[in-house]
Order: sequence, then C-alpha cells, then structure tokens
Amino acid sequence: MKDSTFEPTQPQPTEKPKEPSAYERKMQNMLEASRGRIIAFAEDTSLSFRAGKGFFFQPETGVITHDASWFEKRGFEPEAILFAIFHELTHFRDYRQDTKYSDRLFKENFAKAKVLGKQIFDKWAATEGISAEVLDSFKQEKRMSKKFPEMKLNQAELAAFKMYHFFYNIYNTYIILYFLFFI
Ligand SMILES: [Zn+2]
Repeated sequence: MKDSTFEPTQPQPTEKPKEPSAYERKMQNMLEASRGRIIAFAEDTSLSFRAGKGFFFQPETGVITHDASWFEKRGFEPEAILFAIFHELTHFRDYRQDTKYSDRLFKENFAKAKVLGKQIFDKWAATEGISAEVLDSFKQEKRMSKKFPEMKLNQAELAAFKMYHFFYNIYNTYIILYFLFFI
C-alpha cells in the first residue's frame, strides 16, 4: 500500500490533462497542510485522497475521492472540504472496525424505512385532495444500492430512509467534532 497522498485530478487516458483551477489548488494545499490531522483521525497512513467527481470511500483501494467543484459551485471556502474528508473517514473507521458495518447499517435502515415508509405513505394517501396520479408517483421505486439492486424504496420509504441515514450522519459528525476539538 502506498503512503497517503493528496493527488491532483488524475486525467483519464482519453481526456486532455486538465490544469487544476485556482480553487482546486488552494484546496489541495489546504489538504496537504492538514495531512497530519487527517492521518491522525484515520489512524492509517495507507489511505490516499484523489480529486474527482463526488465523495466516496472505496474500501477495496483505500482511496477517498473528493470533489472540489461541489464546494466551489456553492461558494464555500476550500476549508469546508476538510469536513467532507473527515466524514468519509468516519466510514473508513467504521469499515476498519467491521467490514460488514455499512452493509448491515444499510440493511437495517432499509428495513426500518419499509416500516416507517408505510405509515408515511398511508398518511399521504389519506390526505384530502391528493390525486391518484400524485399518489402513483409516490409509489415510484428507486434502487438504493448497486450492490443490492433488488432493494428498492418508494418515495415515502425513501423519505424515511433519509431520516434514518441522517441520524447516522449526526452521530458521525459528533465523532468528528469531538476529535477536532478535544483530541
Ligand atoms: Zn457518508
């Protein structure tokens, strides 16, 4: 495994190499300056960080992908990305403790979302003046995971799922803040 590095955008073979924008460069410098804290939180030096599209952690490779443009578009300071990196690292920490953690969490939240989603749906259905057409659109199902393509949620169940996932994120945020301020 390689040492932790903050690599600039890796050009795809078919793409022309792209110069990082001033914003991306600022973000990259900030990440490099924060490297010590990031590694301390991860408790692992084998992770690498790569600029890309979206935010995700790939357990197989130990690569954390981050997306500068997401922050730039919204007018955030480059420092804000640090929080996103720490958020991804909480997934890494969970994964290291238990490689099945995220699958289990997903399945648990999915099952709970099915139960609460039914109550939400029934409430929507009982709402006065709601048309059959709108109600039908609520029944539209969304695939939740590439890994478990058969696991789908309708719009009411999805609302419930997001709520449960939100609680998990709040907990992770607490872990981050605790680390940043008390450790
Ligand atoms: Zn997350």
